[in-house]
Amino acid sequence: MIEIIGFCNQKGGVGKTTTAINLAASVADQGRHALLIDLDPQSNTTTGLGFQKNSVISNSYNLVIDNFPPNPVKTALPNLDLIPSTSDLVAAEANLYGMSEKEFRLKKALQAFQGDYDFVFIDAPPSLGLLTINILAAATSIIVPVQCEYYALEGLTDLLQTIDAVREKLNPALDISGILLTMYDRRNNLAKEVESDLRNHFVEKVFKTVIPRSVRLSEAPSHGKPIILYDPYSSGSQSYQEVAREFLERIKTKEKEEGGEEKWKERRLVGGLQPSFRQSLR
Ligand code: ATP
Ligand code: MG
Repeated sequence: MIEIIGFCNQKGGVGKTTTAINLAASVADQGRHALLIDLDPQSNTTTGLGFQKNSVISNSYNLVIDNFPPNPVKTALPNLDLIPSTSDLVAAEANLYGMSEKEFRLKKALQAFQGDYDFVFIDAPPSLGLLTINILAAATSIIVPVQCEYYALEGLTDLLQTIDAVREKLNPALDISGILLTMYDRRNNLAKEVESDLRNHFVEKVFKTVIPRSVRLSEAPSHGKPIILYDPYSSGSQSYQEVAREFLERIKTKEKEEGGEEKWKERRLVGGLQPSFRQSLR
């Protein structure tokens, strides 16, 4: 079974897109075949990987609304493909309302990629509208990026209630594979307090690795590159590689519990790029 991972938090600017791009890139670099889908009309994942907004023909609107699966485009990383988004996606929420099985459009469309990828990663918009509901209905698990600030916990309550409702009505198997602390500043006492609250409350659901605030991470999208290609040795790059390892461990444990060990035979083809090769792609 293909693992489908959504990056969800209805709060804006918490690091969903940065995490989607860089976790997907790190997982691809560690030898897994990954498809990244931009399901946000802002198209930040699309431009962050070096594609011009609206210049792409085959996009995530086709995936959710039309009846044909788009051809993913190749990215600079050999194991990472992308289904970009365009501004058309703004209309998708409204169009979905009139459709039958409106919550399951994405889930159905993704069946076309069964067997092609180990992971499908999906970047969500900052809302709990129908696009996000489609992600939650299709996902095997979600990752929740959280910025360590005062209102972080409040926003999480709404998200967790939505997840409970989705589990009850649409997707009983939906799991939270982890809560990821982003833009973390160790010198900030509030950040430490929020971290401690989150770890006390959600215990092992919170990734051990935190993503530090890093100028290099915020620069990378303007160069159209994941951090692993833009600055592989920066703290941001190292942290996302570490989260990717932790994430893969968690998925492995989950699969073992479900008795599917066989699936996890390494499919190391062109992944695990050596730093020198990464540099050559820069
Ligand atoms: P939206 O809700 O609008 O989709 P988002 O949750 O996807 O936002 P991002 O776009 O990933 O959030 O991040 C918001 C801003 O913070 C961006 O300018 C991004 O470059 C920057 N940013 C994200 N993570 C970091 C980090 N660890 N260090 C520094 N800047 C960061
Ligand atoms: Mg975003």
